[in-house]
Amino acid sequence: MTHIKEMVIVSGKGGTGKTSLAGALSSLFQGKVIADCDVDAANLHLILQPEEVLQTKEFTGGKKAKIDPERCTKCGTCREVCRYDAISEDFTIDPFSCEGCGACYFFCSAMAVNFSTRLAGHYYICSISGNGRFVFAELLPGEDNSGKLVAAVRNEAREEAVKTGVNFILIDGPPGIGCPVISSITGTHLAVVVTEPTPSGIHDLKRIVDLTHHFQVKTALVVNKWDIHPGYTREMKQYCAEQNLIFLGEIPYETAITKAQKEAKTILDFAPDCAASGSIREIYTKLHEILEEV
Ligand code: SF4
Ligand code: SF4
Repeated sequence: MTHIKEMVIVSGKGGTGKTSLAGALSSLFQGKVIADCDVDAANLHLILQPEEVLQTKEFTGGKKAKIDPERCTKCGTCREVCRYDAISEDFTIDPFSCEGCGACYFFCSAMAVNFSTRLAGHYYICSISGNGRFVFAELLPGEDNSGKLVAAVRNEAREEAVKTGVNFILIDGPPGIGCPVISSITGTHLAVVVTEPTPSGIHDLKRIVDLTHHFQVKTALVVNKWDIHPGYTREMKQYCAEQNLIFLGEIPYETAITKAQKEAKTILDFAPDCAASGSIREIYTKLHEILEEV
C-alpha cells in the first residue's frame, strides 16, 4: 500500500487565517484528500465548493437519558440523584443539561428511563474538482465537538485516500489546544501552525508547539499578516530557530483575502497576482519539498 502522508494546518486560536490558507493550498496540491477537522466551525466546504456529496454517514455521540411518561410513577428519585439539575419538576429531561452519567437510569425502579446513544451529527464524503475527495462533518445543535468525531473524519479521509489511490491528506485542524486538536495532529507527518504577529499570537504559538513537540510531530510555521508588526514577526522567526521549527513563510496583510472569503473563493482564484498569493505559492513549493522527505 502507498505510504499516505498527512499534513495538518492548525492555529493556537481561531481567526488567524488558517482556513483561508488551507483552502488556497488545497487548490495547489494535486492528488489529495482534504479533511475539515474543524468540526465546530466547518467552513472549508464554502471555499472548496464540493461537486457532489458521495456519501453521508451518521455520527453518534455519548448517551443521554429520556423519560417515558407512560412508565414514570413520578416518585422523584431521578431528580434527587441527578447532579446536573437536568430533570424538571414535571419529569422531563433537558437534553442540553443532561451529561449522560446514567444515574437516573440506574436508580429508576419503574424502568422509565431510556438511556441510549444519540445522533450527534453527520459527516460527508464529497468529490471536488481534479478528482479529489473532501471529508467534512457537521454537529447537530447543542452537541459538543469531540476528538471522536475528528478521528472519524480522519479515518474516512484515509479510507478515501486508499480507495482513490492518492498518498496525501491535507487536514484543516480545529483552533486551540484541546482534545479535538490533539486528535487532529497525532500521527501526522507535518503540522503547519498559522499565527499572527501579536503578543497573544506568540503565546498561542508556544502553547501549540508544546503540543506538537509532545506528540513528536514535525512542525512548521507560517506568519500571517506579518507586516502588521515586523518586530513580533522577527521574534517568531527567532523562536522558530531556537525550537528547531521550519519557518515556512510569511503572508502580508491583504484586504483582498476578506473579499475572496465573501465570494467563497481562495485568494489564489480571487487575486492570483497579489503579494499574498505569491507568498502562498512559495509556501506551497517549500511544503512540496518538505513532504517529499518526511
Ligand atoms: S425515578 Fe423513574 S419513575 Fe421515578 S420520577 Fe424518575 S423517571 Fe419517574
Ligand atoms: S443521565 Fe445523569 S445527567 Fe442525564 S438526566 Fe440522568 S442523572 Fe441527570
